[in-house]
Amino acid sequence: MARVFTEDRLVIATHNPGKLREIADLLAPFGIDVVSAGDLGLAEPVEDGDSFKANALIKARAAADAAGLPALADDSGLAVDALGGAPGIHSARWAGPEKDFNEAMARVWELVLESEDRRAHFVCALALAWPATDNNPGHSEVFEGRVDGDIIWPPTGDKGFGYDPIFLPDGSDRTFGEMMSAEKHAWKPGQPTAMSHRARAFQKFARDALGVE
Ligand code: IMP
Repeated sequence: MARVFTEDRLVIATHNPGKLREIADLLAPFGIDVVSAGDLGLAEPVEDGDSFKANALIKARAAADAAGLPALADDSGLAVDALGGAPGIHSARWAGPEKDFNEAMARVWELVLESEDRRAHFVCALALAWPATDNNPGHSEVFEGRVDGDIIWPPTGDKGFGYDPIFLPDGSDRTFGEMMSAEKHAWKPGQPTAMSHRARAFQKFARDALGVE
């Protein structure tokens, strides 16, 4: 059983404006007051975990302990089958210090072209951490979501962020780059399955930590 979130304030432990927007939208129906790690001036921890889950926990724990508030962190990325799951946890790093995702997408496509296989998936691990105190090491929970699809070229659409323009989710004729944020992450309490990896992880978070189906 996941620990239930009963507080009314939550730190979103990200400095990525694209993720912040999507997570704030997803949290909007729940009346939780959100504040971002950037707004609080929190430092970004070194993400040296070897999985999405480990990196999400590093970010959530660092933010919760620094802010003294519960914190929610997202670690996510694109895993391409033909590349053995790369860029995976290095998805942000492939864009280099300039965060140039046109470069990163071109690199993915160049490598994908060497095979017939276009399959890929986005993964999102959401970690929720409560702050440690003098006599309590803190507590955390992780929720994971995944969406499968194909890599396509050329990049299509100017919405979203990161690798969205080259990802065609199964069952759709439009890339994530062609969808408004609200459509991509669409999930509201009472709906069956969310669209994006982030919304799917969020759906589990809402069910288990907020008690909302
Ligand atoms: P990190 O989780 O901050 O280490 O970085 C995740 C990286 O994965 C982002 O910078 C994006 O490049 C990529 N990514 C994660 N989620 C999405 C998404 O929903 N759309 C497009 N790219 C994403």
